[in-house]
Amino acid sequence: MLTDEYIKRVYDQVVARDGDQPEFLQAVREVFETLQPVVEKHPEYEKAGVLERIVEPERTIKFRVAWVDDEGKVQVNRGYRIQFNSAIGPYKGGLRFHPTVTESVVKFLGFEQILKNSLTTLPMGGGKGGSDFNPKGKSDAEVMRFCQAFMTELSRHIGQFTDVPAGDINVGGREIGYLFGQYKRIRDEYSGVLTGKGLEFGGSLARTEATGYGVCYYTQEALRVLRNDSFEGKTVVISGSGNVATYAAQKAEQLGAKVVTVSDSNGYIYDPNGINVEVVKQIKEVERGRIKEYAERVPGSEYHEGSKGVWTVKGDIALPCATQNEVDGESAQKLVDNGVTVVVEGANMPSTPEAIEVYQKNGVLYGPAKAANAGGVAVSGLEMSQNSYRLSWTFEEVDAKLKSIMEEIVANSLAAAKEYGHEGDLMLGANAAGFVKVANAMVAQGVL
Ligand code: GLU
Repeated sequence: MLTDEYIKRVYDQVVARDGDQPEFLQAVREVFETLQPVVEKHPEYEKAGVLERIVEPERTIKFRVAWVDDEGKVQVNRGYRIQFNSAIGPYKGGLRFHPTVTESVVKFLGFEQILKNSLTTLPMGGGKGGSDFNPKGKSDAEVMRFCQAFMTELSRHIGQFTDVPAGDINVGGREIGYLFGQYKRIRDEYSGVLTGKGLEFGGSLARTEATGYGVCYYTQEALRVLRNDSFEGKTVVISGSGNVATYAAQKAEQLGAKVVTVSDSNGYIYDPNGINVEVVKQIKEVERGRIKEYAERVPGSEYHEGSKGVWTVKGDIALPCATQNEVDGESAQKLVDNGVTVVVEGANMPSTPEAIEVYQKNGVLYGPAKAANAGGVAVSGLEMSQNSYRLSWTFEEVDAKLKSIMEEIVANSLAAAKEYGHEGDLMLGANAAGFVKVANAMVAQGVL
């Protein structure tokens, strides 16, 4: 419920202006619903128009990406980069290549990124980009030509001190390599303009693992502080089988849990003996295949059609690591009925508002995406630092920094939750802690 008059007025403006952008409205509403105690305590935010300004991107870039496929046919896709907020640092955030990418999706991701990046404690503003290009079934040469065409336009808008993109869904090491190569060719400049780079050309150790590992470090710390508990002996239900899901599964297993599921958009794997992460990596990272193949290789495991079925599996902890709105109210209820008491988000906005309501009603320990999956962009920030220093830290150094950042995010979220009268609420705490830092910077820098 939006009860505060200022918050409601600004939200109505967003609806009037962006009413046709459902994902963006959902992300704004979720944050606004928790900000009442914050704006009450800080009347200077209304005076400086902070809410009106934070919901409007500083700059939206929308462009044509034309490329030639292997048959010699011209293909045209749409590219986006939304430079949302630079109050606390250069725009920072990933690029997503997926047929579902629209301006609304990029805006919701960019809006989330503002607060997420603020939570990392590192100096990064919020941005996001991508394209409706579908890399599924495309040859390596086609992906390369697409990336080159995409960067030919994007290169004029980004730079190590202005906007530093990275990966997101379907944009991994291969794509970042092609994008980086094209930037270098066009600008004749070797800089840390992208993160998630290969280790040979300025990438950081532990960047690949960072989001998934970070989700588990966050979960472990929240469990320790709020429940005096841990991953040890727990059964974990994970959705997705991309970069986030794979490394969340690996770390959960290292921390003593048994992960029993992974999924893709077609269906899910149930493996009662515990998911073999090496097999997932081989299928998804090396062969770029479908998760169905896991069941053909691992005896005792089962494949089921339909990705939503993953939420009907019994477990203690659920880590949604696939995509937005993958857990609806009904699935959330199934999770609770099947014994899940902890939901921590690896994907961005994977829970619908109805699902979050179910978590809250049932006392589920709920770790929201912008806090729980901040490990990826945090290590991107560490990659930027290493590029500036012109050196590289060891895996152990980066991993230790990641772990302490995730623990700090839990601590800062809980401190903010307490300060604003909602002790133990990790969602309100993350929104408040992330927002206050950006809002203070916006007030201090004047209206612009
Ligand atoms: N796409 C990731 C996210 O959602 C990482 C962004 C980055 O490393 O800049 O936070």
